[in-house]
Amino acid sequence: MRLATSLFLVGMISTTIGATLASMTLSAQTAKKPIALAIHGGAGTINRDKMTPAIEQEYRAKLQEALKAGYSILQRGGTALDAVQAAVIVMEDSPLFNAGKGAVFTAERTNELDAAVMDGKTLKAGAVAGVRGVKNPVVLARLVMDSSPHVMLVGKGAEQFAKEQGLERMPDKYFYTERRWNELLKMQSENKSTQVPQETPDEKASSVKQSKKEKSSKEKSSKDKKRSALQPNEEASETHYPDERKFGTVGAVALDSAGNLAAATSTGGMTNKKYGRVGDCPIIGAGTFADNNSCAVSATGHGEYFIRSVVGYDIAAQMAYKGVTVWKAAENVVLKKLVERGGAGGVIALDAQGNIAMPHNTSGMYRGAIFPDGTMTIEIFKTEK
Ligand code: ASP
Repeated sequence: MRLATSLFLVGMISTTIGATLASMTLSAQTAKKPIALAIHGGAGTINRDKMTPAIEQEYRAKLQEALKAGYSILQRGGTALDAVQAAVIVMEDSPLFNAGKGAVFTAERTNELDAAVMDGKTLKAGAVAGVRGVKNPVVLARLVMDSSPHVMLVGKGAEQFAKEQGLERMPDKYFYTERRWNELLKMQSENKSTQVPQETPDEKASSVKQSKKEKSSKEKSSKDKKRSALQPNEEASETHYPDERKFGTVGAVALDSAGNLAAATSTGGMTNKKYGRVGDCPIIGAGTFADNNSCAVSATGHGEYFIRSVVGYDIAAQMAYKGVTVWKAAENVVLKKLVERGGAGGVIALDAQGNIAMPHNTSGMYRGAIFPDGTMTIEIFKTEK
């Protein structure tokens, strides 16, 4: 009788342990891997008092649209690469940002576009620089990565590749916006014919603290007349935009349900840039970088400083070699090194656990994120929340 009871108890206990183990395995299998996405639409002197509520709302709505475009791909189990591309396309197609449709003008009064993508899983990358007439340069960068043996194509060669790949070509007037045109005229009339805007990091940059959410989830010549005559007048209403000094590059970083990271960045560069000038955005390791072993980074700011500081790779390297968090690494680079060197701008950085850092050393940066818990934030100014 005693023996029978003991056997019964042992049986019960082992059944319970077995059931517990089985349910643990099941919950591990069904436990959702984190997905996350962060985007930016440029950093710079962006002050609340210079922006009307309507314009602010316009930016916030577009950032939200870009976030949703990327996030819905991640939710369906899609790749981080597809998500960053989708988010960037929304911003390239908007005249609000300095990329694609809203690109700034060069000193030669053209629009020359740079873009890059990087896959954190394979470390494959694609980039284009100085391309004209391509509606979505981020798509061309992706094609360079996926359908060519190269990492970077520039100028005419990149345009020829776009044609071969059947990408839509847009006429010059597609890229014309009155706002960007006026910015160029203003800068040229100020006799800064070969200068780009001189933006310096905010003096109080090193005291910029990231939002709690980020931490807990662990920011008049005849030529003119000729040009004006060429342009449609449909954008006249744009004159109400504040004359912000800002870098309007767009970018996205994502973590997909397979645990892979990706980054994408796209830009028109800097107003009044010299013909042929290339910024940090398409330079892998500077404005764009992704490695599953550390993080994905997309930058915006004064490209020359970002190239020399190898910003994206520095953040990833600090994580890999020093073992610091994504927040610490991004702050070290953006709020310390770049400030000391005079490089204005910011980054979005995301690690493989879904932790997001969005530091910037300027008074504002258009930015947004959807964290692993599904909550969303959209911020513009330095101090929000
Ligand atoms: N980083 C870009 C460049 O230097 C500018 C920007 O961020 O808007 O080309």
